[in-house]
Amino acid sequence: MKVMKFGGTSVGRPERMRDIAGLISREDEPKIIVLSALSGTTNSLVEISEALSVSDRMGASEKIDALYKHYQAFVSDLFKTEEGLAEGKKIVEDHFEFLNIILKISYSESLNKDILAQGELLSTKIMSAYLKEIKVPHVWIPALDFMTIDSYGEPQLGSIKVKLAQILREHKDTNLFITQGFICRNSRGEVDNLKRGGSDYTASLVAAATGASVCEIWTDIDGMHNGDPRIVEGTTPVRKLSFNEAAELAYFGAKILHPASIWPAQHYNFPVRLLNTMEPDAPGTIISSEADEEGVKAIAAKDNIVAVKIKSSRMLLAHGFLRKIFEVFEKYTTSIDMVTTSEVAVSLTIDDESRLKLIVKELEAYGQITTDHNQTIICVVGNKVALAPNILIKTFDSLNDIPVRMVSFGGSRDNVSILVPREYKEQALQQLHSGLFG
Ligand code: ADP
Ligand code: ASP
Ligand code: MG
Repeated sequence: MKVMKFGGTSVGRPERMRDIAGLISREDEPKIIVLSALSGTTNSLVEISEALSVSDRMGASEKIDALYKHYQAFVSDLFKTEEGLAEGKKIVEDHFEFLNIILKISYSESLNKDILAQGELLSTKIMSAYLKEIKVPHVWIPALDFMTIDSYGEPQLGSIKVKLAQILREHKDTNLFITQGFICRNSRGEVDNLKRGGSDYTASLVAAATGASVCEIWTDIDGMHNGDPRIVEGTTPVRKLSFNEAAELAYFGAKILHPASIWPAQHYNFPVRLLNTMEPDAPGTIISSEADEEGVKAIAAKDNIVAVKIKSSRMLLAHGFLRKIFEVFEKYTTSIDMVTTSEVAVSLTIDDESRLKLIVKELEAYGQITTDHNQTIICVVGNKVALAPNILIKTFDSLNDIPVRMVSFGGSRDNVSILVPREYKEQALQQLHSGLFG
């Protein structure tokens, strides 16, 4: 069994969907295909939902109409036979009828999740109808029948495994399955999702649940690059990464991979391959348990970071002080990314400021608190990167004219993290790239 996941841009245009149909029917190893929504769709659904949440029905309705037109044009182009087109149009009608009905329903968080789920339902149903048109045997399976998360939002791999195995057993003679990325059911049985970019995570969970030989993530670029290609010119693909390197890069902002998609692969030890739909025979990146050569592999950046400083001349040296500080963050289920300490202060960073006010209020018992918003963590990643010759000299030389707020070095040998104000992100990434790879 092999799992192949195709992202939004890979299914975003009719000709791409046709290419994928060719790719997935290329060999006869059994496959589960995980699809994202067509590119732009989830963003539009988020906007529709946001409009509804502030009772802007007119705004929501206009956005639904624009999206509807997009899908009508998409299916008209994709299907070549009368029956195919009729089926494609029916799928679009059904889902947009739902969207138009929700205009009349009062907004809730669970309705929001229902709205967001429409993208993956549409893309997989359209793909399935197209495969039927070109006579490729397959079965469409609803992710909502097997992909579940618990009350903490964590996937229930044990039950996913059992349910998926049952579904596959019901279709013993089928070699090709199509399912939705991103969407799932939560502990209340409602439609939910694995957060933005979550189709990668679906693919990796499906691969773990089925004991797949490989999880292939097909996207619009030839693998993990050594820098963010949207910001830095001249980035190049990294051919091999260890699970740890890939997890660090994904966690620290390399958008090509959802941060949680590595742990199932690491735990069940199957490789993840990053491949380019536009160049299907290019090698891409292979992520596995094998550590490749040592040194700097890539640089990534994560935005929307808040630095919190606790200054306390009287307590810092007292034992148990850090524990008390960390307990406050734990109490408000907010995880900490970077920590630095000095004699009189400790600084740490968080990426979720939803409970910041409460956290600050409690921290005030331990000292004077200051917060710096809108920061970016720049992360230099590589196997034993911290041992690379002159890594700190090169890093700081490159960031010479940038006001660095925090540095984390030595936490692991595989990364060096630097916190800078968001407005310096582009400059920092570009200068570091030339400094470390140039
Ligand atoms: P998909 O829709 O297939 O899930 P994404 O847009 O989520 O695709 O991820 C692919 C994009 O990630 C690329 O087009 C690229 O712009 C961006 N990206 C950011 N950092 C990196 C990186 N280090 N290597 C490759 N791509 C990256
Ligand atoms: N469609 C979802 C999103 O845009 C999930 C994904 O594409 O991975 O976030
Ligand atoms: Mg993605």
